[in-house]
Amino acid sequence: AGKNEGKGQYRFFDPAQSNQLKTRARLRQRLLEAIDQRQFVLHYQPRVDTRSGELLSMEALLRWEHPQLGMIRPDEFIPLAESSGLIVPIGAIVIDQACAQLAAWAQAGVRVAPVSINVSPKQFLRGGVRRELAEALGRHGVAPQLLEVEITESAMMGDQEEILAELAAIRALGVKLHVDDFGTGYSSLSQLQRMKMDVLKVDRSFTAELGRSKEGTVFFQAIVSMAHALGMEVVAEGVENAEQLALLRTLGCNEVQGYLVARPMPAEAMAALLTQRFLFDEKLAA
Ligand code: C2E
Ligand code: MG
Ligand code: MG
Ligand code: MG
Repeated sequence: AGKNEGKGQYRFFDPAQSNQLKTRARLRQRLLEAIDQRQFVLHYQPRVDTRSGELLSMEALLRWEHPQLGMIRPDEFIPLAESSGLIVPIGAIVIDQACAQLAAWAQAGVRVAPVSINVSPKQFLRGGVRRELAEALGRHGVAPQLLEVEITESAMMGDQEEILAELAAIRALGVKLHVDDFGTGYSSLSQLQRMKMDVLKVDRSFTAELGRSKEGTVFFQAIVSMAHALGMEVVAEGVENAEQLALLRTLGCNEVQGYLVARPMPAEAMAALLTQRFLFDEKLAA
């Protein structure tokens, strides 16, 4: 339309749109600087055994520490990082930092536990993430059993064949695979079976329904039964209160993650929890 209207080019400079573009361009520029200046850090959140509270593993969650803006959470920059392709170099930093941290803890004599990292579908292209995982494990001398990969249920539904092949290759390295945010996508039973994932993380919206409605609990029970039948362990995400924990115990959910146990924290704080090992206080003990 712009061409036919000749001077109508002003249409392209609608102030609201132009502002948005400027903001996106600025954010992209800032992400490039962040990569260059190493402004990304990983925080860690423990996952514990539902019954004993033993710390079994943890999730690495990306934080952007901007020198002026402070700490920025992933929801504010991952979408643009994905659409701009910058998630590839950022994802490589995450893999490297997670491996470096595992090596540093081991070096310091801290009892380590597996770390899971979140991976975007864009990172799977041309075997990128598989190569980065193998290289980072080797570079830092970390056993593949200590690194795990989370991919959201909706991301797994994308380019099926390529993602399936990459997931299988990553699993062949000895790296466990988690389905993240389960219940928010549309995977079928047969797709789940083909995927051969090790751990199913139930989205926190389902955890929130526990105890609120009979259906919420019944639905969660069905997910646990299905996952166990397919040979997967189940993690409840977003566990925030003791009532949810009690219900998850009766449902046989394997592990819990959430503010009830601990919020995501910097590596130094996580080291203290690794040493503590059992994270339930008397009130939460079974
Ligand atoms: P996610 O992988 O589902 O991670 C769990 C999110 O839930 C985290 O948010 C965590 O802080 C939050 N959370 C944990 N326990 C509770 C709870 O009890 N209640 C509530 N309300 N929230 C809880 P966060 O750290 O802001 O991360 C948001 C999302 O950003 C992640 O969701 C993940 O999809 C993405 N993300 C994080 N790090 C990375 C990364 O390194 N790469 C990629 N591609 N995505 C990442
Ligand atoms: Mg996750
Ligand atoms: Mg999740
Ligand atoms: Mg999520």
